[in-house]
Amino acid sequence: MGSDKGSNKDLWARRERAIPRGLSSLHQRFATSARNTALVDVEGREYIDFATGIAVCNTGHSDPRIVAAVKAQLDRFSHLCFQVTPYESYVELAEKLNALAPGPTPKKAIFLSTGAEALENAVKIARAHTGRRGIITFQGGYHGRTLLTMAMTGKVVPYKARYGPMPSDIFHVRFPIPYHGFGDDEALAGLQATFAASIEPAAVAAIVIEPVLGEGGFYVASPYFMQSLRKLCDQHGILLICDEVQSGFARTGKLFASEYAGIEPDIMTIAKAMAGGFPISGVIGKAAIMDSPDPGGLGGTYAGSPLGCVAGLEVLKIIESDRLCERANAIGGLIRKRLTALQSSGARFIGEVRGLGAMMAMELVVDGDPQKPDAALTKAIVAEAAEQQGLLLLSCGIRSNVIRFLPALTASDATVNEGLDRLETILRARMAKAA
Ligand code: PMP
Repeated sequence: MGSDKGSNKDLWARRERAIPRGLSSLHQRFATSARNTALVDVEGREYIDFATGIAVCNTGHSDPRIVAAVKAQLDRFSHLCFQVTPYESYVELAEKLNALAPGPTPKKAIFLSTGAEALENAVKIARAHTGRRGIITFQGGYHGRTLLTMAMTGKVVPYKARYGPMPSDIFHVRFPIPYHGFGDDEALAGLQATFAASIEPAAVAAIVIEPVLGEGGFYVASPYFMQSLRKLCDQHGILLICDEVQSGFARTGKLFASEYAGIEPDIMTIAKAMAGGFPISGVIGKAAIMDSPDPGGLGGTYAGSPLGCVAGLEVLKIIESDRLCERANAIGGLIRKRLTALQSSGARFIGEVRGLGAMMAMELVVDGDPQKPDAALTKAIVAEAAEQQGLLLLSCGIRSNVIRFLPALTASDATVNEGLDRLETILRARMAKAA
């Protein structure tokens, strides 16, 4: 294939001249096309993509059914603004998602454009409903880069340092991470300590939690912890907001990760995989809560774009017809089995293999010691996998020492195994070096 526009190196040089360094790109490769699990760069090299645009293309790149739905919509109209002239696809998507969201309480939904915007709106709605100011989020959590969501995000570098002052009334508590020696009960005690030291529970509007910490490192909140949060929120009239931006849409083996705990969130934020690559996000919540803001208080020019709405409807159909929840569990099982086998065959740098469904990760440490994160090795493996093996991986983690696996849920076992073979080659070379 290739391109007459230049090599990866040339384009990178142009990128560096034209684009500020604050926006980083993990891989110095420029894509020209992507189909399902394969991505091709400007030099004609093909990669297996285990990054899916950060958990967006759960349905694979450019699924023909989504592309057809969006093309048909383009022939009708591309933008009207729902606040000016509404369209049916928005309403239909809301109806479908309201019915699919966990729990029996009737729901309502609004659509926006980005994940951060969904979180911003969730907080506005929670404050309007409760008349309270406080927002509790988790250390290591990630909610976006806008001013409010940056403040909610629980990692200073690179997200917050130098961007203050922060919006007020946001409090961070520790997320339970047993692998780091911090369990559910300690985390619950931490919340009580925050109520004693920082803000009274009667002033807290919402606790915002990712059921599986995404950017923070794929730590899974246990059903016990989620249920305990639910109880605590009920006890104090606090709203429970589940941020399912990364964990939603079949990634974890259920449509939403909160379903594993059997709890009903008051509000849920969604984005990323909901439209298979088209920029749309949403807030779904209990109807009475969602109706708290006054008319005109919610919205946005591009919010709930018609292209995103039809893509979203198609994604829901594909999740069902292609049994993507089942596939997520099968793919996740495959990844877990192979990484665990490598770990027990002597890869001491694999500290922990964990995840839920196909939201899988491995944490890299020195000599099997959870307290010795190996961020340098993590970076090297991601680079080597792309360079030497044509495998696109993503890192993450509070301590930048986690490799996450986010293959499309439409990937065949053969493709997942091929990707894992390539990774294994890299890891075995590392093991030989360490021996
Ligand atoms: N919440 C979570 C859990 C996320 O993973 C992300 C993005 N990584 C966001 C919010 C922000 O989404 P966006 O980048 O679309 O603003």
